[in-house]
Amino acid sequence: MSSQSGVQSSVWTKLWKLHIPNKIKVFGWRAFHNILPTRENLVQKHVIGDDTCGLCTRKKETALHALWECGVAQGVWAESIRKLQKGSGGQSDVLQLATELLDKLKQEEFELFLVQAWVLWNQRNSVTHGGSIQDPTRLASRAGELLEEFKDAQQLLAVQSTVMRSATWTAPPGNCFKLNFDAAIFKDINASGFGVVIRNELGEVMAALAAKGPPVFDSEEAEVLACRKALEFAVDSGFTELILEGDSVTVTETLEASRTRCNMSRLDHLYGDVLCLWSGLHAVSVSCVSKSANSVAHSLARYAKGVEDEIVWLEESPPPALEALYFDTL
Ligand SMILES: [Zn+2]
Repeated sequence: MSSQSGVQSSVWTKLWKLHIPNKIKVFGWRAFHNILPTRENLVQKHVIGDDTCGLCTRKKETALHALWECGVAQGVWAESIRKLQKGSGGQSDVLQLATELLDKLKQEEFELFLVQAWVLWNQRNSVTHGGSIQDPTRLASRAGELLEEFKDAQQLLAVQSTVMRSATWTAPPGNCFKLNFDAAIFKDINASGFGVVIRNELGEVMAALAAKGPPVFDSEEAEVLACRKALEFAVDSGFTELILEGDSVTVTETLEASRTRCNMSRLDHLYGDVLCLWSGLHAVSVSCVSKSANSVAHSLARYAKGVEDEIVWLEESPPPALEALYFDTL
């Protein structure tokens, strides 16, 4: 029992470390837990009455059948990863299959396996909704292309964020404003704080905000809330041409990758709000800066501890951040 759960936890660890899109990791996680909406699972939940595979119409549609054993899946696997052609059968579920493959395949091959499984699952759903079964060679190359595209995009992001990560605050160009945001957590009073500052090309404060926030679970939650507050503040005070800077890697990366990333975290709804606000702005760029380049927003977030609800400064330097503002202009 304990060795079984040990095997499982190492599968999860390996799964989350793969270089594949998050939505495919989540798909894998659901497949390994046998909670995909397969016909078998839908019959168990009394959603439908027949659990026969709609593609081969010969066997029960379990997750293992859909992704591996079904003739339609096998046709694609034969075109995809060579090592899998002589793959042994007889697994009891997808988790057992994945555990075996994790031993047998290199990491890149296992990544391709999961992307391929995801492509197969999507084709199955599209066939259920009236689509046609695609050529196995085409489906096999599609998975490889998806993985390539994802890795190229990741590389581009990595390059951009190292280039943009600056140790000191720099003023925006004259055609836009720079918005810095930060969060603080006040455990002793069970609250959080948000700081936001919008400055022009001369480093002058256009608008600033210090606001008290709700209790939070961790710093990521605090940072997403601060980001949402910052974007709302920018919209309310009429700034749309913005360079956005924060010091939370997770939050800024989510915005940078907003077109491709599918978040599946407990903070989903917050990220959804942030992306929605973000898409409504003529935003120029978003980047993650070091804490030393974000110290005005940081000072304002700390100051929020003693604030009742929120304080706004318009076209004046907020007193709690004077020192940090001074250092930013040096
Ligand atoms: Zn089938």
